[in-house]
Amino acid sequence: MGELRRRKSPPKELKGNIRVFCRVRPLLRVDGPGAEPQSQFHFCQKYPFTFDKVFAHDASQQDIFQEISQLVQSALDGYKVSIFAYGQTGSGKTYTMMGRPEAPLQKGMIPRSLEQASMLEIYNEKIQDLLANKRNAGAKQYNIRHAEGNTYVSDLTIVDVCSIGQVSNLLQKAAHRSTEQQVQGVLNFIDLAGSERLSRSGATGERLKETQYINKSLSSLTDVFSFERLKDWGSYPL
Ligand code: ADP
Ligand code: MG
Repeated sequence: MGELRRRKSPPKELKGNIRVFCRVRPLLRVDGPGAEPQSQFHFCQKYPFTFDKVFAHDASQQDIFQEISQLVQSALDGYKVSIFAYGQTGSGKTYTMMGRPEAPLQKGMIPRSLEQASMLEIYNEKIQDLLANKRNAGAKQYNIRHAEGNTYVSDLTIVDVCSIGQVSNLLQKAAHRSTEQQVQGVLNFIDLAGSERLSRSGATGERLKETQYINKSLSSLTDVFSFERLKDWGSYPL
């Protein structure tokens, strides 16, 4: 906080930057036999709000990942990024975050974010593939492409990674060839506890205590986000 106070006008990218997406999950057998797919959403709203984007029930895991893949890149560039899944129990938070990693089409954003790594360096305005085998290095021409809202470099070596150990090995391999410069970004994936209200949950005993703690932390989180929003609007009294 002290840091913020001293900084009169923070650079734009350091200001709180929050985006809120809504994902509607398809109807499932557990929703009951009479349930019908909803093409309209009825909200009983107390406060006016908007979403940055709404994904309908037929949105695929790839559609969702597409939207957040730029944030993964921001983390690799040294920014601190957090992605929260918020919603009541059964609404699809864990499906969105993890999905079914064993089914390629149903993998969620966590396995999708971790599974592929490529590393490059721009040296004398030329792109170098830091993961290429030595004998291939330097021979290829790499091009920067923009497609579907993402920017990528063609022909880079892409390596599947399944563990932190493999990531460390890649970093070591790349370090032989790269400069000493390092960036430290953070990418947090947060699968929050269910947001249902205490009265609706019907919980008692240990479960009641658990729900109370959950609701307390979620409402603290609301305070954090409200503060970030105020900063966004430039009206915070710092
Ligand atoms: P939460 O983590 O919010 O409690 P889950 O992610 O476990 O909810 O989802 C509840 C059920 O709905 C799971 O069986 C999950 O596989 C299924 N589900 C959720 N979202 C989708 C989706 N978009 N497509 C298909 N099934 C989904
Ligand atoms: Mg869950």
